[in-house]
Amino acid sequence: MAWDFETEPEFEEQLAWMREFVRDEIFPIETLRLSYDGVLEVIKPLQEEVRRRGLWAAHLPAEMGGMGFGQVRLGLMHEILGQSPYGPLVFGNNAPDSGNAELLAVGMEMTGRHDIKERWMQPLLDGTIRSGFSMTEPHTAGSDPRLLQTTAVRDGDEWVINGRKWYTTNGSVADILVVMAVTNPDVHPYQGSSMFVVPVTTPGVKILRDVGAMDDPQVVYGRFGNHAEILYEDVRIPADHLIGPEGSGFLLAQARLGPGRIHHCMRWLGQSQRAFDMMCERALSRYTHGSLLSEKQTIQNWIADSKAEMHAARLMTLHAAWKMDKVGASAARVEIAMIKYYGATVLHNVIDRAIQTYGSLGYSADMPLEAMYRAARAARIYDGPDEVHRQTVARHALKEYAPSEVPTQHIPTRRESALEKFAGILEFLEAEEV
Ligand SMILES: Cc1cc2nc3c(=O)[nH]c(=O)nc-3n(C[C@H](O)[C@H](O)[C@H](O)COP(=O)(O)OP(=O)(O)OC[C@H]3O[C@@H](n4cnc5c(N)ncnc54)[C@H](O)[C@@H]3O)c2cc1C
Repeated sequence: MAWDFETEPEFEEQLAWMREFVRDEIFPIETLRLSYDGVLEVIKPLQEEVRRRGLWAAHLPAEMGGMGFGQVRLGLMHEILGQSPYGPLVFGNNAPDSGNAELLAVGMEMTGRHDIKERWMQPLLDGTIRSGFSMTEPHTAGSDPRLLQTTAVRDGDEWVINGRKWYTTNGSVADILVVMAVTNPDVHPYQGSSMFVVPVTTPGVKILRDVGAMDDPQVVYGRFGNHAEILYEDVRIPADHLIGPEGSGFLLAQARLGPGRIHHCMRWLGQSQRAFDMMCERALSRYTHGSLLSEKQTIQNWIADSKAEMHAARLMTLHAAWKMDKVGASAARVEIAMIKYYGATVLHNVIDRAIQTYGSLGYSADMPLEAMYRAARAARIYDGPDEVHRQTVARHALKEYAPSEVPTQHIPTRRESALEKFAGILEFLEAEEV
């Protein structure tokens, strides 16, 4: 089967514009130490420019107000935007709002309920409201969401939600929370969980704290990007706050996570490339022990290995995106799982090598590398820990094989059957003493 990641010249032009725009207009904002509200002010004209070019919230299907780009083109776009933490914000596709808008779009498609667009989806796309995605719980393993304990029980025209969540990114600044809860404990969790829109002002929603984490150990409550711990205590929401049909929580999660992983991996490649650029620049500039770093074999090995790993990750991710465009997310499940752990590892390794190349400067906050490194560490955990994706890939690979008491490549056994197979010619050779 031919693989084709080619894009039209018009789109290439858009990508070229994005590259320049991100480098010249967005990178400088990173250095300003602004509050989130300050960032929002500074990026307003940039967001306008993105809208003018028709690139705002491009991730959604065309009928929902997006560009209908497909995953290959979106991936290429995310590779550029992902170079800066502010890139997605300027282009209207920052997590978790972009994923939540996609969820709402899928829910709308499943039920034909168009009120969802006006109530939550459009405001999310316009950036007039913010959202959180509340699935992970502190007391159950997030890597196995079949164990979720948060419940939603139907009571007349309302659902009543009870449970505790944590790591709800942006939970403490959100207007709405998308909550995953068990609605039918009597069936398999894959059919018994549902998602709801919960406005944060609903009585019983208690934002307990923002969790101090590697990305901000001295966390200050209520900042964009924080991860909230939230108690849902007898939270009553109207029945129409259910997204999609009852029991469709896992389906919705898959619809959200498939494309999301491609976008993440391409953003990680953007980050990896940025770290790589920094590493090469330093290697050519720093002189020690009689030569430039670029002339030392260890540094050359890091550069060569990083280049090859990034190339492999890029091809794997584009292939997964292409397959998703061709045959859908479900058929591309294994490819998506592979890029999740492979891409996260490449990201981590390249940044790590770049820091080492810079020495103390790399470790310092005078370079962006230390913040990139902290963010990269999380990539191996969120979106499902890497080990779970490795398990998916291994399980799938193992399906192609059967157990064998004697290894099928066991040489003495194979020799026995080869002697039988070639008995005639072997006898002839022996007689001729060849
Ligand atoms: C920066 C960040 C942002 C996040 N944002 C959100 C958010 O917005 N909303 C949300 O709901 N959640 C969010 N999360 C939570 C994230 O989805 C979970 O941390 C993740 O699913 C893992 O769950 P857990 O932390 O409970 O780890 P656990 O399930 O307890 O797993 C712990 C470890 O066990 C190992 N492990 C698990 N399963 C296997 C296996 N099958 N084989 C081998 N080893 C295994 C892995 O090494 C894993 O890291 C975020 C997390 C981070 C770090």
